Amino acid sequence: MRDAEIGIIGGSGFYQLEGLSDVEERAIETPFGTPSDPVVLGTLEGRRVAFLPRHGRGHRIIPTEVPYRANICALKLLGVTRIVSINAVGSLCEEMAPMDIVVPDQLIDRTRRRISTFFGEGVVVHVGFAEPFCPELREIARTAATATGANVYGRGTYVVMEGPQFSTKAESLMYRSWGAEIVGMTALPEAKLAREAEMCYVSVAFVTDYDCWHPTHESVTTEMIIGNLLKGAETARSIVRSIARDMPEDRICPCGSALSDAIMTPAHLVPEETKRRLAPIAGRYLSDARQ
Ligand SMILES: [Zn+2]
Repeated sequence: MRDAEIGIIGGSGFYQLEGLSDVEERAIETPFGTPSDPVVLGTLEGRRVAFLPRHGRGHRIIPTEVPYRANICALKLLGVTRIVSINAVGSLCEEMAPMDIVVPDQLIDRTRRRISTFFGEGVVVHVGFAEPFCPELREIARTAATATGANVYGRGTYVVMEGPQFSTKAESLMYRSWGAEIVGMTALPEAKLAREAEMCYVSVAFVTDYDCWHPTHESVTTEMIIGNLLKGAETARSIVRSIARDMPEDRICPCGSALSDAIMTPAHLVPEETKRRLAPIAGRYLSDARQ
């Protein structure tokens, strides 16, 4: 039996998931290193969930240093097939105001210092990423977010920047000119790695403030942002609970077969060491039986 089916990756302000029963904490090692924190396993609404705070408990890890591959691999090893990611973001448009929630449908990658694939080292893989989020999970997340009474946007383009500094005004205006609606630092490479691991991935993005393009930005204080994050964390917990309750057993989305026509290298040419490391992610495609 798998340990968990739903993985929850908590962002800034969301370091713990209350309300779990049968709680167990598990320190996991993966071929891609140690995750941000031990994973908390528990039962929520009758479903087995695994919770992992992206920045570690106490917020110790900057976005560049988050062990994204280890985090996704640890959830995969526990049996997780669907990941709900909680992200704090700034707004690039007037209508998405602080305290609003966005379930984005698109991503723009402006990260520069992160390993964004499980593959390489003797195996070439190109997964489709035109739709970076799971369509089924997005719909469930949108419904769950709306039920909290929050103002919810069911789509949006999320720019993921490297950070840890916030953007300059010129960058902020450039992102707006690209048609992006929100900016943050963490949904990538998570979403890419989840796709490579054939897991569903959705981002529930909490708007904490307007990014610096906005005339009111000058009056934004860290205190206000933290206050919004803490209020957001309560809403995030209730969203996660509804998602666990309403998630259908079986997946009807294409995420679970993302690798089926994406691996370019014949299995017999893949180095043994690479195969061993990739066993939890792509073992079923790289076995010698498929040569
Ligand atoms: Zn999916």
